[in-house]
This record gives sequence, C-alpha cells and structure tokens, in this order.
Amino acid sequence: MMLGLLLRGGLGLLVLLWSFIPPLVSLRDLAERPKLLLVSFDGFRWDYVNRVPTPNFHILMEEGVTVEQVENVYITKTLPNHYSLVTGLYAETHGIVANDMFDPVLNRSFSMDTDSLYESQWWEQAVPLWVTIQNSGGRSAAAMWPGSDVKIHGMFPTRYLPYNASVGFETRVEHIVKWFSAPEQEAVDFGVLYWEEPDDSGHDFGPESSLMDAVIADVDEKLGFLRNELKKAGLYERVNLVVTSDHGMTQLFADKIIELDQYVSRDLYTWVDKSPVVGILPKEGKLDEVYEKLADANPYMAVHLKDAIPERLHYRHNVRIMPILLEAREGWTIVQNRSTPHMLGNHGYDNTLRSMQPIFLARGPAFRQNYVKPAMRSVDLYPLMCHILAIPPLPNNGSFSNVRDLLHPEPTVSPPSIPTPAGLVRPSYFPVVVGSFLGLMLVVGFLMVFVQQVTLKQLPSLKHASREMSQPLLQEDLHL
Ligand SMILES: [Zn+2]
Repeated sequence: MMLGLLLRGGLGLLVLLWSFIPPLVSLRDLAERPKLLLVSFDGFRWDYVNRVPTPNFHILMEEGVTVEQVENVYITKTLPNHYSLVTGLYAETHGIVANDMFDPVLNRSFSMDTDSLYESQWWEQAVPLWVTIQNSGGRSAAAMWPGSDVKIHGMFPTRYLPYNASVGFETRVEHIVKWFSAPEQEAVDFGVLYWEEPDDSGHDFGPESSLMDAVIADVDEKLGFLRNELKKAGLYERVNLVVTSDHGMTQLFADKIIELDQYVSRDLYTWVDKSPVVGILPKEGKLDEVYEKLADANPYMAVHLKDAIPERLHYRHNVRIMPILLEAREGWTIVQNRSTPHMLGNHGYDNTLRSMQPIFLARGPAFRQNYVKPAMRSVDLYPLMCHILAIPPLPNNGSFSNVRDLLHPEPTVSPPSIPTPAGLVRPSYFPVVVGSFLGLMLVVGFLMVFVQQVTLKQLPSLKHASREMSQPLLQEDLHL
C-alpha cells in the first residue's frame, strides 16, 4: 500500500515535470531556426536581367523561384516601397508616404536627405518585421536598409550598420554573413541588405542608356559575391534568400517638362515631395483656387484632390498625403521652372506601369526550384516571410495564400500549434521528441527500481507490496 502510494506520487511528480518541459525548452530553440535574408538592389527593374548577361541572377532563377510581375506600392519611390516590403502595408497605412513629407499634425517636415529621417515618429505608424521578430525573442540584422538605423518603437535591429553610402557592398555583405553565422545563441534569424545601384546610375544615365549595361553587370557580380560569401560560411543551403527591389526606372526626356510656374503662383502653395508625383499644400483658403488653376493645365499631368485619388492606388487615407496630388504621365517631369536640374531617369509613377516594377527572385530551403509565378504584389512578401520565419504576422495588406505556391508544398501531417516552413524545421523536431521520451522512460525505470530497493530495505514487512509494480494502474496517470 505504502509502496503504491510512493510510486504514484513519484510518477505523478514526473508527469508534472514533463508537462513543464516544452515551455522551459522550446522546441523552436532546440531546432535549427529558419533564416531569411532579404536583399534590395535599389531601382533594379524586372527586365534588367534580360539585357546583359547576368549569370548570378539566372542561377538564382534555376535554383529557386521567379515572379515575373510584381506590383509594388504607390508611390513607386524608395522609402515607401522599402517600408512596404518589411511591413506588408500600403504607404497610406505605414505612413512613409513619400521620400519628402509634411505632417500637419506633427507640424514637421521630413526628407530622406536630412536628419529628420532619424525621427522615430515618422516610422511608428507601422512595425517593421525586425521589431516584430525581436519582440518574439528572435534576432535580426540590417545593412543599410532604409529605416533600419532609425529607432522604431524603442528598438533598432539586433545588429545593424548606420547608413553610410561610402561603405561598399562587400563590407555590408561581410557584416551580414558574420551576423548570420554567429553561434546559434547569437545568430540572427532575419537580415536585410541594401545597395544603392542600379538606381543611382539609372537616374544619371537613364535606363535605356547603354551605360547601364555595365552597371547591371556589376550588380550581378555583387550578387555573385553574396552567393560566394554565403557558401563559404556554410549558409547558402540554410538561408532563404530573397532578391528584389523597391521599383523600376523609366527614361525621361528633356522636352517632356511640365512647369508649374506657368499655371499657378508659388505664393499660393507649398511644394511637398518631388516629381513625378508632387504633393501640393495650398496656402490657407487657397485650395479651390490652386486646384482650378492646375486641374486642366496640362494634358500630361493628372491632378487629383485628395479625396478623389483612385482607390486602387491605396494612397488617400493619411494626413501626410497632401490636399492636391499631381502625377506626371510616364516619361514626363514636373518642375516649378526649368532651372531645376534635370535627370535622365526616374520612378515614382503609377505602380501598374511595367517600367515601375521590380525584380523578384528567391531561393533556399523553403522555396521551390526552377519555378516561375506570373504575378504577386510586393505587400504579399511580408506574410510570406513571416510564414518562413514562423513569426505571427501583424495585420497587413498582403495575402499569404497569394504566394503560398512559391514554397515547397506543405507536408500532409503537421503539428497544429507550431507553424513551420516546409521541410526546414519539422525534421529536426523528431529526434528531440524521441530523445526526450526515451530519456523520460529511462528516468522512470531507474526511479521505479530505486524506490523498490529503498522501500524493500526499509519496510521488510511489506514484501509482497512490490507486486503492485507489475499492475497497470500507473498507466492511468500517464497520459503520454
Ligand atoms: Zn529606390
């Protein structure tokens, strides 16, 4: 009787301890954590890979997935699109609506070319993926990604480089690779890597210039450098690599200039943001007058009152979007007068224009191989990355179901409570679970023998009580 109680108590205690094991030692920590590196080559238009030999891009296509048409977000500028990639939100929702902004509530101006870039308040209408990952106990790294060296919701990426355009691509890669290949307790799960080309040259030369050929070839070599560094670090088969961009680029023409000074006095409005989409803030009481002067001023310039901006652009519901929005026709430039320096290439136009759309390639353990998908939206990338990284996504404008086919098909049997990327984490759970179970059985067996020996020595009058050990009663308590 006494022996039975002891055994029940001992095993009950073990069962209790067992129930605490999963929370104490998370399976996710024991397993190999999924990893993802998101790379943006600024202004890399989707078709650049077809105009000069780009062997590294083409290897990625064979090894992974290609999306032929990616609809990015309006306006097709650098900051709005980079923030959409890491939030899954349209610009009107994440709040970085342009490279240059005015916020009438904050009564402050923002420009990517001034220190206002580092004011947290501009970025905190949304939460970038690196912050969400860190709030979930993970680690992230950033090499010059726009906004990644800004403190957002009290947080920087776990590892990051402050923005410095003079730091070469190779140095950025070396840092990122080092942070990914650190010991597992310190290694990052998610990284973002940014390079300014081919955008800079695209503005200077125009995308149709033959001078762009060498620039595109150089970006391909840089991608090759990244692939080699990942291979040397043993990361190439472990890291899910996504290579994309924020927007494309279109050719401008010196005779396709719209001069606002011809139509409306500068005294009546403040010019916010630059061509080809211009935010106009009329002076107090001057909204109607400015609108009437501009509305039919030039057939190559669309003029929208804020409330009438087409819904499909998702560019209306934010105080940082100005009362009047001007949009030039593709290839046209809006200036106040011709003294403004003229570029040969630009972007920012309607996001349904093919010339404004970026490249999208991805490869790695989660992705299918040699797979081509016709179309996606860039906001769909965020839920896709969250799925791969097993992080619950925050509310977003993307849809995982739109891009699920980029990944290996889900195994038919899966544990319901642990979202896992296909084929990456699940196999490593198996030995952990089996090992834990066998270990537990060993401990139980040892304790049973130990208790039996001790009890028999101390209670010689209960010789026959040991028979209880052969009875199945204890199994009723063990819901293994
Ligand atoms: Zn850009």
